[in-house]
Amino acid sequence: MIQDIFPSRLDNSFQTKLPQPDSRIMCFQDGRLLACVRDNALHIPQYRALSLQDSAPVYLFSVDNEPFFLAKAAAVPEGYQYYPIRELRDRCAGKYLYAAFTAYHLYQWYADNRFCGICRGAMQHDDRERALFCTECGHKIYPRINPAVIVGVISNGRILVTRYRRGYAHNALVAGFTEIGETAEECAAREVMEETGLRVKNIRYYKSQPWGMAQDLLMGFFCEADGSDEIKMDDYELKSACWVRPEELELQPQQHSLTNEMMQLFRDTNGHLPPESAPAARTLPPQKTRIYFTRHGETTMNAEDHISGVTDCELTEEGLAQARRLAAICAEHREIGLIICSPLKRARKTAEIIAEQLHVPVVTDARLREWDYGSYEDQPRGSTPDFQDAKLAFGVRMKDGGESLLQLAHRVYGCIDDIRRQYTGMTVLCVCHGGVCRAAETYFRDMTAEAFSQFFMGNCELRQYEI
Ligand SMILES: [Zn+2]
Repeated sequence: MIQDIFPSRLDNSFQTKLPQPDSRIMCFQDGRLLACVRDNALHIPQYRALSLQDSAPVYLFSVDNEPFFLAKAAAVPEGYQYYPIRELRDRCAGKYLYAAFTAYHLYQWYADNRFCGICRGAMQHDDRERALFCTECGHKIYPRINPAVIVGVISNGRILVTRYRRGYAHNALVAGFTEIGETAEECAAREVMEETGLRVKNIRYYKSQPWGMAQDLLMGFFCEADGSDEIKMDDYELKSACWVRPEELELQPQQHSLTNEMMQLFRDTNGHLPPESAPAARTLPPQKTRIYFTRHGETTMNAEDHISGVTDCELTEEGLAQARRLAAICAEHREIGLIICSPLKRARKTAEIIAEQLHVPVVTDARLREWDYGSYEDQPRGSTPDFQDAKLAFGVRMKDGGESLLQLAHRVYGCIDDIRRQYTGMTVLCVCHGGVCRAAETYFRDMTAEAFSQFFMGNCELRQYEI
């Protein structure tokens, strides 16, 4: 199917990016795409090859690491022309075709929503999410996706095959848009009844497919005719509707559509379809989880050079300013979706400042609290010459009820394991402490005892790890 581009992957997460010279630019005109088709391969022009009309290119999505933008071309570069999307569907395949379909969906949505439906004000792109808002009354809208169903109706080892009166000329299955107030299964039954006069039973979900060409999300169902299999065709919508045996079934010329995959499955299994839903359509590649670690802003105890483990203390003015600077850096990238912080005041305050700027939630995890330094807590660093050595005795608890390094590592590692499991594919910021950051570093990288003892993390410094 068109979306099956594995191992490539389309990343549709919202970002604000600027085009680079080699970025791909999707330029549409009257519903046609500026492209070049050579040997059935679809080429999308790069930013450097185009002269564009005034408005800024809009970032759409990336395929692997290649970003795609939407813009209007001022001229047609040599070797390129505008192609109707339907023609590209017939002539091309691969990740660029999927990108073109997806871009077309967004292009149509932007084009249809230049003015506010409430007050007719001009709509503008939101810079935090994929949305448009009215510059006059603030009304906000989100991309519209139309759910539709594809239905494979089976009776006595045959499948119900249709052809549309208008549009696509090849074999198809019963299909139609969901109406407001009905489930997808009810829609499947209604569409079969409307188009062919048949009752159906045993409706079961198969797979779904984004179909940007028609701004759809398609949901495929198989079902069986219930009672009479006499077809009463709706000849306004259809040119033909008939029962076809597997060996007689003619597939579509391209493998893009869910319809075609469902027909092919019927043919290849000789009508013996799996009784229940098939496994998920898309083999998703393993997703990377990105974890940032930072240490809280400067505290009163940092300023006095006192050892602060689990002892609570406040941020200084400088500490607050450091947190605000870090918030601004994080905001530039905008990919952080969650902040996890230590329960100690200095980390919580730092996390709050960042969260406020990023508009992301903060959760507290006690496993990110600082190393419990026992009776070294709140001592002036200069008065405890053996503190440095105590840190290296990894299996020995800090005196008078403190933790050993292994105990610290045990809880920090557990926390990171849980982040990987619960927030797979997300970017998470951990706001914690110098000792915790040091333990976290050993989770991701080998460290000698010497490197470990020299590891230093400044206040609000940021380290990035990817798994
Ligand atoms: Zn408005």
